[in-house]
Amino acid sequence: MADIIKLLPDHVANQIAAGEVVQRPASVVKELMENAIDAGATCIKLIVKDGGKTLIQVVDDGSGMSETDARLSFERHATSKISSAQDLFNLATKGFRGEALASIAAIAHVDMQTRTAANEVGTHLKIEGSKIVSQEVIATPEGTSISVKNLFFNIPARRNFLKSTQVELRHITDEFHRVALVHPNIEFHFYNNGSEIFNLPIGKHRQRIVHIFGSKMDNRLVPVSEETEVVKVSGFICKPEFAKKSRGEQFFFANNRYIKSPYLHHAVVAAFEGLIKSDTHPGYFLFLEVDPSSIDINIHPTKTEVKFDDENTLYAILRSTIKHSLGQFNVAPVLDFDH
Ligand code: ADP
Ligand code: MG
Repeated sequence: MADIIKLLPDHVANQIAAGEVVQRPASVVKELMENAIDAGATCIKLIVKDGGKTLIQVVDDGSGMSETDARLSFERHATSKISSAQDLFNLATKGFRGEALASIAAIAHVDMQTRTAANEVGTHLKIEGSKIVSQEVIATPEGTSISVKNLFFNIPARRNFLKSTQVELRHITDEFHRVALVHPNIEFHFYNNGSEIFNLPIGKHRQRIVHIFGSKMDNRLVPVSEETEVVKVSGFICKPEFAKKSRGEQFFFANNRYIKSPYLHHAVVAAFEGLIKSDTHPGYFLFLEVDPSSIDINIHPTKTEVKFDDENTLYAILRSTIKHSLGQFNVAPVLDFDH
């Protein structure tokens, strides 16, 4: 029988990878904003139209790219962030897989304008379905602007699967919150259909939380702070009397990355035991710092699921730290459990 195995062409491989990296417009927002942060931006603008279905644009004032790098950035496994497998155990950047731009360009129309400080003119690239359709020299500010239109234009099933504009905008807003919360040292602007819905000046974590969730937050926050050999914990919990019926504001960040961890979530809930009704949820904004070699973030392309070396110890430290903060700030039970 004849040999039947063949290597898939790059544009097909990119489209397959895109299925994992890009689930919806919010995934594009996450990837583009993370790239802007990795590029050292001090100001990031997010511009969307119709819940990202018509337009997703991220403009940064970061390092920009040379003409060659601009083209290479859309290749699969093309990254400036790691060069060896060893680097995976010591990641300082959000990106490292070199997949996002290749994936996005495989399933959308992408327009990139970029310039480095060393170059007087910039590069303007248009890519549709992995193909460069035009490349020009352009006068553009230092930094990078990437627009993504017609997402899933060549995957009708995905395009049809998109939810209402309202729902997609909510997912985008969630991603925006996650990125903005962990980088209060970066200025963010978020425009939806031409109007500015967030304007976040540079500040501290507490101010950033208040800017995002409103001034009502200011007197709800109780600081959390602990440093052990295993982990440094900082951030805030919300006072028990502000626990909500809906899940509300619950954020974990590990090494400056938003993560989902049902196990650590449970540690927080356990610390609130007896202080809140069992059908309500505590609010928290918790920043964990661990040795980069003790955390594996390469479990899934979206990198929100992570694996800690010593989860049990983390659990115990988190629970006791939060209990301590609740006690120290005289947060006593205020609920009448008879009702
Ligand atoms: P990764 O972030 O994993 O490296 P991406 O596909 O997201 O992969 O980006 C590929 C490369 O393109 C990055 O490593 C970086 O060198 C470059 N790049 C992407 N976005 C930007 C940006 N906004 N500013 C400067 N360089 C960028
Ligand atoms: Mg990236």
